[in-house]
Amino acid sequence: MTETVPAPTVDAATRREVAPGVIVIPDHRVPLVPNIGIVLGEHTALVIDTGMGPKNGAAVLRAAQEVAGDRQLILTLTHFHPEHGYGAAQFKGKAQIVYNRAQGEDLAAKGPGYLEMFCGMAPEIATALEGTELVEADTLYDGAQYKIDLGGRTVFLRNWGMAHTRGDQIVWVPDAGVLFTGDLAEEKTFPIFPWFPPDDTDIDAANWIKALQDCAALGPKVVVPGHGEIGGIEIVDEVRHYIEAVGAQVSAARTSGKDDEAIVAELDPKIRADHPEWHFPEWIGFAIRYHIDTLK
Ligand SMILES: [Zn+2]
Repeated sequence: MTETVPAPTVDAATRREVAPGVIVIPDHRVPLVPNIGIVLGEHTALVIDTGMGPKNGAAVLRAAQEVAGDRQLILTLTHFHPEHGYGAAQFKGKAQIVYNRAQGEDLAAKGPGYLEMFCGMAPEIATALEGTELVEADTLYDGAQYKIDLGGRTVFLRNWGMAHTRGDQIVWVPDAGVLFTGDLAEEKTFPIFPWFPPDDTDIDAANWIKALQDCAALGPKVVVPGHGEIGGIEIVDEVRHYIEAVGAQVSAARTSGKDDEAIVAELDPKIRADHPEWHFPEWIGFAIRYHIDTLK
């Protein structure tokens, strides 16, 4: 992490309609700002992610209220990571908050630790997170899928269990062909492997690949990644190819008998060079180490 970072402020005034009644507050590629979604039905609007901290949460709530008018609000999060959901407290009592069970458990178990870790990254981030309250869901759902009727439009929340975290969730809007992936797929960004042994080792690359295969099989027309530019199915495919390639390269390097550090030193620059346009190469090493440790 660098010492000075831009404030992770959601620009809730910028809104882009990516399909009829499907609005995105784009991240403008500001680090630790997610792409945020608002999906409108006739009587209910679904908000996807909040940004981090009370100010961002309040700004996103205001934007959602403006866009939604007198519709009921439901808030869901793509996963428990701070930049996606640590503005949820501002929605409490104003929206029905829905998580999948694993996501709720992830937040309960690791939420406070991640809050502390993020506050320690940079003063700008600590400021954004000041006054953050971690809130439980009003509705915790079990199983792989949860269907919400927004009125004339049905949306699906889907999860695969542990992948990038223990409870990653996508949101699929079938009538518009829009897929919100959370951090299962970021655009032109090295996938975040939060491999922090012994504190957090809840990653499952094989399941992550499976989730991305299933996402591609939905045939989305518009993919809204957790971070980065909105695009199409290529965003999902590129992440899957990356994870498969890192796994294969680590496997091959291990059969040569090299030690862990030598494998990282050899593969990191190679993988970086394969994706010259991608952001945050510091995550390559974490992905390599995850594969080294889990292949042992
Ligand atoms: Zn994340």
